[in-house]
Amino acid sequence: MMIAHVTIPLILYALFPTHIELLPLLFGSGFPNFDVFPTLLRKNPPKNALAETHASTILHTLFLYIVLLPILYFLLNSYGIVNGWAIVMSFSLGGIIHVLSESFDEKGRRLLYPLSKKFYGIRVLPYDFWTYLTDKTIICFEVALLVLAILLLLIRPFG
Ligand SMILES: [Zn+2]
Repeated sequence: MMIAHVTIPLILYALFPTHIELLPLLFGSGFPNFDVFPTLLRKNPPKNALAETHASTILHTLFLYIVLLPILYFLLNSYGIVNGWAIVMSFSLGGIIHVLSESFDEKGRRLLYPLSKKFYGIRVLPYDFWTYLTDKTIICFEVALLVLAILLLLIRPFG
């Protein structure tokens, strides 16, 4: 998943603009990828990309975004932020969309963490960055999502 981490949230925002806060949604949708740094800073390509840290930490679990809901809501509320629930829900929604959409790659994601450390998913997409970026079908899919997001944002069907 590349630009889909932006276009899928934008599509949801275009469909439900009164329920979703855009910036927390986009921040939440990018948040899981903070665990990419060990991968970016490595000196040599890993022998087994599927075993690397990226997408294997708690940042890529559904659990984190459910647990963070009440904690972040309490924090925002204690600072007197009135629409804290919408902000927190949008952030968590972004994180959950990220993890669920990536569960369609060949690595899968730890969807049942902490009950299970196994990676689950419907493995139809490649995990490796370059394989992903050079697949014509995937490029078409990503472009289609981008076009759909732009169209929906222009039309705003329910907004
Ligand atoms: Zn990710």
